Amino acid sequence: TQVIKPRIREILSKELPPERVSLLPKHWVQIGDVLILPLRPELEPYKRRIAEVYAQVIGAKTVLRKGHIHGETRKPDYELLYGKDTVTVHVENGVKYKLDVARVMFSPANVKERVRMAEVAKPGELVVDMFAGIGHLSLPMAVHKGARVIAIEKNPYTFRFLVENIWLNGVQDLMTPYNMDNRDFPAENIADRILMGYVVTTHEFIPKALSIAKDEAIIHYHNTVPEKLRPEEPFATFKRIAREHGYDAEKLKELVIKRYAPGVWHVVVDIRVYKR
Ligand code: SAM
Repeated sequence: TQVIKPRIREILSKELPPERVSLLPKHWVQIGDVLILPLRPELEPYKRRIAEVYAQVIGAKTVLRKGHIHGETRKPDYELLYGKDTVTVHVENGVKYKLDVARVMFSPANVKERVRMAEVAKPGELVVDMFAGIGHLSLPMAVHKGARVIAIEKNPYTFRFLVENIWLNGVQDLMTPYNMDNRDFPAENIADRILMGYVVTTHEFIPKALSIAKDEAIIHYHNTVPEKLRPEEPFATFKRIAREHGYDAEKLKELVIKRYAPGVWHVVVDIRVYKR
């Protein structure tokens, strides 16, 4: 997220009614050379010209209007305002992420977690990323620490970028991608560490995560939680389900990733699980 450039205001103040100029977006997101611009409805008649000016001043090839991310596969819903190519390579923390910004989720707010995963990973350990996306969280673990990764992603279009990113970052000897629903992943008792980078219904996948985990393992458990249920949840539910499946769970750390909805947080809990 950046702050509006005086040059943009200078150009557009000559073309827009004065009361609309103050409504120009002051913040936007840049992923590679694609901009995601939040635009107020009052700017509708000028949206294409506004997008063009932002693109030219900032140096982007494509501009999308910010929409919402929804559904099981977290697909974004954006309107194309300027340019046509929405595929780009975003470089963050020394990791190259190729993606189609219009069709694949990439949340700038999760940057701290992507960096943190590179820090916690250990050389040679086996990480299973159950919701891999384009390799958001697990590419940094292979690139920076030499962790071995099994990356499971069920959406075929997202999966294509996951495969490309593995090669783009030169970690094809460390990362193995699977295009399947993680519930169908056959291996058991293999993972030192499991990434559950998913929200809203992540608890439904806890039994599967436990079957993939070694007798002792670390699980990075993401979920959304209403403010009023914190700090007990979401760990209390994890622990209950783990016990039902013969595991003890110890909470090591909990971090807020971002606000998900009014009064609802996206959090990640680092949990050590042990077979009882
Ligand atoms: N883990 C990344 C992060 O936290 O930045 C982002 C991943 S994105 C929110 C979740 C991904 O999980 C999507 O690409 C979606 O297609 C995939 N997904 C959802 N359900 C799945 C399942 N049952 N098995 C495998 N992948 C799944």
